[in-house]
Amino acid sequence: MLIVPHIPSDRERYEDNLWVKSKCYRFYVEQRRLHCNFLQIMDLWLLAPCCTECALSNPLTGNAIPDILPQSWECDLLLSVCQSVLGQTQTALRENPDFHYFCKTCGRELRPWVDSQIYVVSYHLEEHYGIPLETPPRKKPAIILREQIIGLYDNRCFGCNSEKERLDIDHILPKAAGGDAAFRNLQPLCRLCGARKGNQLPEEIEVYSTIYFGPYPSDGYEGLFW
Ligand SMILES: [Zn+2]
Ligand SMILES: [Zn+2]
Repeated sequence: MLIVPHIPSDRERYEDNLWVKSKCYRFYVEQRRLHCNFLQIMDLWLLAPCCTECALSNPLTGNAIPDILPQSWECDLLLSVCQSVLGQTQTALRENPDFHYFCKTCGRELRPWVDSQIYVVSYHLEEHYGIPLETPPRKKPAIILREQIIGLYDNRCFGCNSEKERLDIDHILPKAAGGDAAFRNLQPLCRLCGARKGNQLPEEIEVYSTIYFGPYPSDGYEGLFW
């Protein structure tokens, strides 16, 4: 039997792309629920391990010293990432002595606790999935974007978490202060919370997501969440 490879049509590719992006948006909203209140803009960074060759051929990390060295990997991991990631790695290693990371770029196995040195690269979730971080000329979100945002927040006000028939799309950094209609600057608020917030300026919160442990999914589906 002849097996014909499936070549996705433009339409399928477009839909896949939307699917990946909607997962990305959901991840963003989840992280925001965990880390922020309605007066905080989240600057979300993803961290991933990277082998020496890939790190040196990437202009962002070229010529840098490795983040994690074999002889001091526990201390390095704590310094370059965070306590919870170190804890996760120690647990994984106890359960499976063969545990390893994978290079984000080439997929090579990395075990800094044995022999290799690795870099930790950080990047914006939106950048990686091609979602604009800013929309310079536009201050008012399109109607479809407003509906999508309310849906992503499960029809709940981000201030008081109550489900409301009527939710307004709030600019976290107010329009008057230069806030634009990029996804990261918009949230649904009920009238009361909107009034409570007024024109207060937000605080920016940097959030580093956990280091990526599994084989890196280039842009595949399952791998988007870790
Ligand atoms: Zn690599
Ligand atoms: Zn509210």
